[in-house]
Amino acid sequence: MRIVITGAAGFLGSHLSDHLLADGHEIIGMDNFVTGNPDNIAHLASNEKFSFYKRDVSNYIFVPGKVDAILHFASPASPNPQSKSGYFNLPIQTMKAGALGTHNCLGLARVQNAKFLLASTSEIYGDPEVHPQEESYPGNVDPIGTRAVYDEAKRFAESLTMAYHRFHNVNTSIVRIFNTYGPRLDLEDGRALPNMIKQALLGQPLTVFGDGSQTRSFCFVDDLVDGIIKLLYSDEHYPINVGNPNEMTILQFAETINKVTGNRAGIIFVDARSARDPQRRRPDITRAKNILNWEPKIDLEEGLCRSIPYFKQKLGIA
Ligand code: UDP
Repeated sequence: MRIVITGAAGFLGSHLSDHLLADGHEIIGMDNFVTGNPDNIAHLASNEKFSFYKRDVSNYIFVPGKVDAILHFASPASPNPQSKSGYFNLPIQTMKAGALGTHNCLGLARVQNAKFLLASTSEIYGDPEVHPQEESYPGNVDPIGTRAVYDEAKRFAESLTMAYHRFHNVNTSIVRIFNTYGPRLDLEDGRALPNMIKQALLGQPLTVFGDGSQTRSFCFVDDLVDGIIKLLYSDEHYPINVGNPNEMTILQFAETINKVTGNRAGIIFVDARSARDPQRRRPDITRAKNILNWEPKIDLEEGLCRSIPYFKQKLGIA
């Protein structure tokens, strides 16, 4: 297939590019580098099956020649208010990438008679009142809350995707991605994993926000990409959760990072991020298991061991 990936220079877009190239496809990457990093795709520069366009997908996009699939992964995604690349500091771009960007990608899919796959998110469940989150749960999101620019843009993107499927018969899929980690996560974007790995590798105490009792379920990137590719090859049109159901508290998560890195500086508790920090999050992956025959294989300790060399290299640690 000839596949367009928006956000190709991002964490997930670059891993997807690698895996789909390895599967024999041709990739047309797009990114405007607002949060993506050219370093993430530098190794693909000499690959003749990879081409790249610097584009903002919120504007009209044109691709010469036949396209078989479009994967829309362009969006800021970090909830950290301090991060320059987080959606707090890019609120309009975030809403445009989710709304106008999705519209442009769907328009391209329609004229090309191509498959469209939307990168959605567990954030569409907001601070969930149902646990674990299954796809039928409609979510608990405040439309003007602190995370709304991301959450509502992705919720709109899902609605638009289903509208194009139902009204224009476009072949669409929607993946709801839960917390994911691995090499190429931006060390400065303030999310739990890069923040804590950086602190651990520098021998500093890990910052746990609040009392650390809030939970997350972390998936290693290779597992996640495997699930997304299975969805791409499927005919499933309704949203599918892809993530690791191994739920833990953020305190347990921090302790695991200290253990794996051998960091003796311990943990400090700092002010909770905001009242809107979701308290619990775990995907129900029954649909992914039944429909895609997918479940994650890599546990947290192994995933951390596979991630640490990248972060060491970025920090200049031997
Ligand atoms: N967190 C933390 N310390 C940090 C960064 C994050 O305790 O240095 C917490 C954060 O409050 C949240 C969880 O870790 O409860 C996951 O945060 P992340 O930014 O990775 O993404 P989220 O799952 O909130 O979208």
